[in-house]
Parts: sequence; C-alpha cells; structure tokens
Amino acid sequence: MPNTTLAEHATVHRAPAGALNVREDLPPTRHFIAGAFDTPDRSRLHADIVDPGTEQIIAAVPEGTAGDVDRAVAAAVAAKRDWAKLVPKERATVLHRIADRIEQNAEILARLESANTGKPFDVSHDDVAGTVDTFRFMAGALRATTSMGAGDYAQNHLSVILREPLGVVGVVTPWNYPLLMAAWKIAPILAAGNTLVIKPSEQTPLTTLKFAELIADLVPAGVVNVVTGRGSIVGARLSEHPDVDMIALTGSVGSGQAVARGAAETLKRVHLELGGKAPVVIFDDADLDDAAASVRTAGYWNSGQECGAACRVLVHESVADAFTRKLVDQVSTLVVGEPGAGEHIEIGPVVSKAHFERVVAHLETAAQQGITAAIGGAALDGPGYFVAPTVLVGVPEGAECTREEIFGPVVTVETFADEDEAIRRANDVPFGLSASIWTENARRSHDVAARIDAGTVWVNSHLVLATEVPWGGFKGSGYGRDLSIYALDDYSRTKHVMHNHG
Ligand code: NAD
Repeated sequence: MPNTTLAEHATVHRAPAGALNVREDLPPTRHFIAGAFDTPDRSRLHADIVDPGTEQIIAAVPEGTAGDVDRAVAAAVAAKRDWAKLVPKERATVLHRIADRIEQNAEILARLESANTGKPFDVSHDDVAGTVDTFRFMAGALRATTSMGAGDYAQNHLSVILREPLGVVGVVTPWNYPLLMAAWKIAPILAAGNTLVIKPSEQTPLTTLKFAELIADLVPAGVVNVVTGRGSIVGARLSEHPDVDMIALTGSVGSGQAVARGAAETLKRVHLELGGKAPVVIFDDADLDDAAASVRTAGYWNSGQECGAACRVLVHESVADAFTRKLVDQVSTLVVGEPGAGEHIEIGPVVSKAHFERVVAHLETAAQQGITAAIGGAALDGPGYFVAPTVLVGVPEGAECTREEIFGPVVTVETFADEDEAIRRANDVPFGLSASIWTENARRSHDVAARIDAGTVWVNSHLVLATEVPWGGFKGSGYGRDLSIYALDDYSRTKHVMHNHG
C-alpha cells in the first residue's frame, strides 16, 4: 500500500463544490463516426471517467470494439479522396476555421480538460492556446510546402516531384495533454490531406469528443472520426487495420512497441512519440538561480506528467549543495490543489488512482534504497490523487528513480565530477527525447549539446516549445516528429513522375 502520510510543506487547496461545473458542457459521450455521434446505446459496455481531484465520476464513455474501428476506418476511407483533392488554400481555410472555433470555446475546453485531468487552469489554458496555434501554423505551412524543382535529370526526361497524402491515419493519444496531443497529430495530418481515426486515452476522452462536436460542421463527414476505448482493443485494431496507411501514437514505450508490432503485418508507416527522462546538466559556471527557477517550472509543470520534464538533475559536485538549497526553496513555494480552487494553483493531482500508486511506489522504493527527500517524498491527503512536490537527493548512479519515468512531481539530483562524466551519464538512459545544459561557457554549450543524444537540447532553458520547431525523440523515445514542417513531411509521401519528351 502506498504511504499516504501528509507531507509537511504542502497543503491541498480545495475547490468549492461545483466550481468546475462541466456537466452542461460535456460533449456527447459516444463515438464520432462519419460526421455524427453514434446513437446512445445503454446495452454497450461503458467506462467511467473520473475527476482525479475529487475522485467523482463525471461521465461514462463506450468501450469501443474492433467493429467500431472498422466503421470509423470505412468512413475515413470514403472521405479521403475528396479531402485530398482540395487545393492547399481550401484545406488551410478549414484549419483556420477550426482554430477560430477552438479559440471561441477556449474557456469550456480548459474547464473540461481540468475536470478530466486535474490540471491547474494555467496548464489547461496553455494547452488550448497551443492547440489553436498548431492549427494556425499548419494552415499556413501547408500552403508553403515545396518539393525539389521539376527538371531534366535524365536526358529528355522531365522529372516532377509530387507531395501526396498517405490516405487514412490512425492516431492514439495519451492522458497527459489530451487536447494538445490530439492537435499535434490532427492538424498536420489534415493539413497534409489525410483523413483520420483518433483514439483518445481511455482515461481522458472528453476534450477530444468536445473537439469533434465543435468542428462537426467545419469538416466533411468522415475526415475526422473518434473511437473511444482501450488501447489493447481500439488501438490494436487501428494498428493492424489493412485500410489504415499510418499509425501515429504518443504514449509509453510499451504501447509504442505494441503499435509497431501491430503495424508490421501491413507494413504501414509508424510515428512514435514516446517517453522521456530529461537530464538537466548544471555545470559549475551556471547561473544557479536561473537553473533552480527553471526546474521549478519545467520539473513540475502538469504535476511532472510531462515527457520533457526537467526531472533528472545532474549537477557539478562543487555547486551541488548550493543548487539543491535553491531548488528546495523554489519547490517549497509551489501551490497544490484542485484546479477549481483558483488561478493560483500550480500543481494538481496525478491523473488516476493507478498512476498515483505507481508514483508513490517509486518514492517508497527510493526511500528503501536510502535515497532521501529534501522536500516532499509522500502522497498528500485525499480525496484526489495528490503527491507532494518532491526533490530526491543523495541519488546514486543508476538508481531506478533516475532511469524510469516516474511521471509525477518528482525531481532527482545526482552529482558529477567532470564534463565527460556528465555527458556519459546524461546519455545513459534508454530515452532520448530532451535535455538541458546550464553553462555560461560558449564552447561547452555547443560541444555538450552536440554530444547529448536527445531530439531537443536546451541551453540555459528547459521546456520552452514553439510550433515552428520539431518535437520528437531518439532511442527509446521513438521516431517521427510532431510540430513544424517536419510533421507535414511525416504525414506525406513523395512521388516522382518522369515524362519522356525526347
Ligand atoms: P500509454 O502508453 O499508457 O497510453 C497511450 C495511449 O496508447 C492510450 O490511448 C492507450 O490506450 C494506448 N495504448 C495502450 N496500449 C496500446 C496497444 N497495445 N495498442 C495501441 N494503443 C495502445 O501512455 P499514457 O500513460 O497515456 O501517457 C504517458 C506516456 O506518454 C509517457 O510515457 C509519456 O512520456 C508519453 N508522452 C510522450 C510525449 C512525446 O511527445 N514524446 C508526449 C506526451 C506523453
């Protein structure tokens, strides 16, 4: 059993009853296929959707079947030719309209997201703003994409390079950023001229269903389809379906492996954004105040349920004590509570009971290994799945808490003696999603960034994203890129047409 002792430094701020009040804003909790929500059917199996801040049930959604996936894929197949035929300007107009619609409903979407995930409003509003920006960026980018110039590269033969949609893309998303991760997939997939079937996380389907409700009159029927349910059923059928041309998943390594196995039979393309365990490498010449303030945000944003979280500090031994003091001071000021308690809340609950037990088990294992919590280190009183913002110190090389994703408000601090050791240990994890290095030395900032095996490396910063630049990992963090024109490339195929004019 997890230790649910109340940590001293953190109190859970509670919301007045009904503060989030999402009942009237709930979307139809049914699959969205061929432009319409299924008719209600009480005889079907449903899964409860829980508010992790209060543990109250807020909705129930159908457990999708392989048959539901087949219906949705058939709708996406039927829609793909007409959608692909639209010229870039026409598709861009639709994407801009989607962005407008999301913006007009930002408040409702943020409240729904907070109710379903426990996110503070600040995080939910940021997610909605990112969603709008992703659609706007892709609307512009799709009109600006070019191919290699047409020309004669063989005698009397004119080569023309065409960029084509793939067809139907299956999408599987996680619970940590339900709406934003859906947008990171849906926007470039539609921009590139594909149709899609999306399966949101079984725990957090509400904003994806709301998105479908909001855009139903903006896209032709069948272009966007939503099937709710489990990964092992709905996600697996999407991965193996012969009429799905590509499967894109954001989630854990295990799910990525399952999807890749499922896709192998039909040799469909696979796009994987998986886990991370970002090292934060702090050299002795770094601005320690800046570094500590940045880890306060980047280590604990979204309760640390963030694949790029600044969760694994590697600090030079000569400044380790000074840095740890500053970090603990910063973390002691984090405000924990239900999102409905107000705009000042910075740390919500973790997403579910099962995940809460996982995070607390990690803390208990660390304690059994002699690792101490300089602050936090335990669960907070319920109801709700709250964990005290934690800094683990005295962490030995190779400890489990430095190698596995904890995905909670937990940052570990290790020390190193020199640059080579810092780089070796930064790279010594199965993941390669992101990292940061902290130094005022220009040579070191270039050299270390080049030697770190991660898809994103920040220098004197952490977790700053922009829609124009790619996001994605190396090694166990998967392959494929979200955001930027690289995502448009990932969801397109290249055709060469050669004309003999001799
Ligand atoms: P998860 O892997 O448990 O679930 C992700 C999705 O995969 C869910 O929709 C789930 O139903 C589905 N799934 C599970 N098994 C499947 C199967 N056999 N076939 C097809 N689909 C299956 O992950 P999660 O717990 O929801 O999310 C947290 C994970 O996501 C973390 O590992 C985190 O690092 C990662 N993540 C990565 C990024 C990124 O950009 N790299 C962003 C957000 C989250």
